[in-house]
Amino acid sequence: MPPRFLTSWRMPVTCAALLIAGGAAGALAGSTLAGVTVVSLVEIVVLLSLFRHKSGPMLQTPATPHPEYDRLMTRTRRIASRLRDLRSAAGSLPDGVVLLDHSQHIRWFNHAAEELLGLKGPRDRGRFLSEALKNSELAGWLEEGAREPLTDAAAPGHPNRHITATLLPFGSRQRLLLARDTSHLTRLEQIRRDFVANVSHELRTPLTVIHGYLELLDPEDVPELAPVLDEMRAQSKRMGQIVEDLLTLSRLETQDHLVEEHVPMAPLLASLRKEAEALSQGRHTVSLDVATSADLLGSIKDLHSAFGNLVSNAVRYTPTGGKIAIRWAPFDGGARFSVQDSGFGIPAAHIARLTERFYRVSSSRSRDSGGTGLGLSIVKHVLNLHQARLAIESEPGKGSTFACVFGSDRLLDGSRLHDVAGAPA
Ligand code: ADP
Repeated sequence: MPPRFLTSWRMPVTCAALLIAGGAAGALAGSTLAGVTVVSLVEIVVLLSLFRHKSGPMLQTPATPHPEYDRLMTRTRRIASRLRDLRSAAGSLPDGVVLLDHSQHIRWFNHAAEELLGLKGPRDRGRFLSEALKNSELAGWLEEGAREPLTDAAAPGHPNRHITATLLPFGSRQRLLLARDTSHLTRLEQIRRDFVANVSHELRTPLTVIHGYLELLDPEDVPELAPVLDEMRAQSKRMGQIVEDLLTLSRLETQDHLVEEHVPMAPLLASLRKEAEALSQGRHTVSLDVATSADLLGSIKDLHSAFGNLVSNAVRYTPTGGKIAIRWAPFDGGARFSVQDSGFGIPAAHIARLTERFYRVSSSRSRDSGGTGLGLSIVKHVLNLHQARLAIESEPGKGSTFACVFGSDRLLDGSRLHDVAGAPA
């Protein structure tokens, strides 16, 4: 009689389930390599489970030759050889792979997992994974449930390397941990940030000098050059603003925590309204609606800059006669700062990309209105630092609403004021 594992209905069902899990995992991980990796691994798991009993005699040699027995043996050898190939392929994959049982104990890991995660075989086989990862960022992520992929984490086995980790479910409550070395991407990102910050910094001084000399020139001395001088002044001012915005973005990108200050909302909102009116110069109706007395916890300077960008956009992208409404109101347990305009609006296809640097719906309209193309990037970074999000609703021809949504942790009421720097005594 053939062994139970070859006839059991469980084998094809498990194979199919695992292959589907593998494909889905590949898609989740977002790359063909990851997909291939996971599919191959899933096959290995199946084969490993088939050969779980390989140390004992799997088949009893029958007393008399039997064609069924020979066929079975040939098939068994083929599967064994495939298992060896797959094991060696998985072993040499560049991504760290760890197979876990239902209680997160380590069943198997490859060579890259040893390097990146600091695991050692046979010492760590059978150990609880987060225990084997020794108080690392990865261990903390696993203990919190590892629901989202962990990006740009320090590799527990290599202090100078960075990894992205994903935990994928498969089979009956088993898990697969994939760890990819992303150090080169982190390095490239660092080079890009340093380059932008250095170029912006180097441009700042010469631009200040040019701008200073342009201010000294009097158009009345050479009236025929007055329009040229005006244009030169406007452009040097614009370049100066781009440099300042790039430096602000560089600072926000490298900053991972905030100076936690008490941000009094009443004076901030009043000042935003005044800024809108000054920029509009009577061309729009500006209103302010304050529906909560809550203040914010965060950086006064950065929040003012983010809210100011939204107000300035509303004025710049709303034709004369339009309305601009600034609101501060309770929302979903937290609070929401919003700026609504009755302006040009934005087609839906552009909305997801608005916070990219230099992304504009209409370059000429943005430039004519004095934009740098960096305002919404700054808003997004400031909000990220405050664990807040930007919500955009817009309809072409009708107008837009840009809202900053803050969680309850960022709100200050009277009872919490005394804990915070900058709070009134
Ligand atoms: P810019 O300096 O060009 O305004 P932003 O990053 O602030 O750069 O905005 C990106 C783009 O989003 C703008 O170029 C504009 O096309 C669009 N946009 C931003 N705010 C509004 C708004 N209130 N109404 C219509 N379009 C807007």
